Amino acid sequence: MTTTIAKKGTKATLVIRDARVFDPASGIDTRTDVLIEKGQITRIAPGKGNVGDAQVVDGAGRLLLPGFVDLHAHLRSPGREDEEDMASGTRAAAAGGYVTICAMPNTDPVVDNAAVIASLAEVAEAEALVRVAFLGAISRGEKGEHLSDMWDMAGAGAAGFTDDGRPVADAGLLRAAFQAARNVDLPLSLHCEDLDLAGAGVMNEGTVSAQLGLAGIPATAESADVARNLEIALYEGARVHIAHVSCARSVAAVEQARRAGGRVTCEATPHHLVLNDESVRSLDTGFKMNPPLRGEADRQALVEALASGVIDCIATDHAPHASQEKETPFEEAPFGVVGLETAFAVLFSELVAPGAVSLEVLVQAMSANPARAFGLPVPAITEGQEANLCLVDIDEEYEIDPAAFYSKSRNTAFAGRKVRGRVLLTIAAGRMAHNIL
Ligand SMILES: [Zn+2]
Ligand SMILES: [Zn+2]
Repeated sequence: MTTTIAKKGTKATLVIRDARVFDPASGIDTRTDVLIEKGQITRIAPGKGNVGDAQVVDGAGRLLLPGFVDLHAHLRSPGREDEEDMASGTRAAAAGGYVTICAMPNTDPVVDNAAVIASLAEVAEAEALVRVAFLGAISRGEKGEHLSDMWDMAGAGAAGFTDDGRPVADAGLLRAAFQAARNVDLPLSLHCEDLDLAGAGVMNEGTVSAQLGLAGIPATAESADVARNLEIALYEGARVHIAHVSCARSVAAVEQARRAGGRVTCEATPHHLVLNDESVRSLDTGFKMNPPLRGEADRQALVEALASGVIDCIATDHAPHASQEKETPFEEAPFGVVGLETAFAVLFSELVAPGAVSLEVLVQAMSANPARAFGLPVPAITEGQEANLCLVDIDEEYEIDPAAFYSKSRNTAFAGRKVRGRVLLTIAAGRMAHNIL
């Protein structure tokens, strides 16, 4: 049983009138009213009947979607609460339309035992505005030397395991981890990177890095490790989730492993789907992340893979960093950008509006697919379900303003970008988590 907790706030009672209700997983796409009583969806039907004392929300011209699920968020708690904490991270998630997020374990201390998960679950129960699931570390302290106690962590409600931030370099250890994870039927989420190939690189290796004179990280540093990891997962018959794919060869390896019968899911981030390494010419550290932004051909391969379903999940890799740490020369800045509050708007504006990816594909990749990949509750807009949904305005154009973020950190790759797709309201676990109406 996965621990996913959101306890803050009272259960919502409201009626959303005349919205376009779009939930591919439930097979609904129609203009109608949705009545939510005490956190539960009790009626989906048009009509202006008596709804008692329910608050009325005007949904006309707006899109009502199943809430989003993020498999990859760094909440920085415990250890770096100056950058993010449970309250601020889940507030940011709610502002982005998320109803469930998975917290990565590379904190201080590392989440590598059942006791830490239990204590984080308590914090989530008191402070979280959306559901939070916890991933446990694969190795103790994420040092890559000894397996953590995955059995115990599964018992404490871990949703899966990862050493994210670092690859699992030791193939023997990875094999043992797959065996342990298979025993509890949970996925390993793998940060794939050959550190010897990555070297001291700070951006993608290619024309731009050569012109800037910056050390590059070749795409093969990722794809070679993806290929190896998928081989081992296939051999062990284990569930594997490839984190933040950034290049064409990684996608090809995922497709091939799936054809061979592998239980493989994978994720791409909004920044890898929308940006390429030309952005780095500005030397703005908001474009420094790991894996790095690749060349345009790789970016296009990711968009095609999302459209065709090879990339089945979108994850933010929300990685908050304090301003003073990012305001340094490009080479010295830490890798990572925030992403919870901008994901839908960026992807809707850059991929769906121009017709590269359908709204259906985007919504599935942000909601039902990731939920299923990690065995989390699937947000569904159907009668009788707990309300986990968001209301979006896709017509109003606005500019992304980091100063307005609910996150404690501002390190975005999308500052000043004009987008459409503002999340107006999010109901998570039946509770009003975000409302700017
Ligand atoms: Zn990573
Ligand atoms: Zn990460």
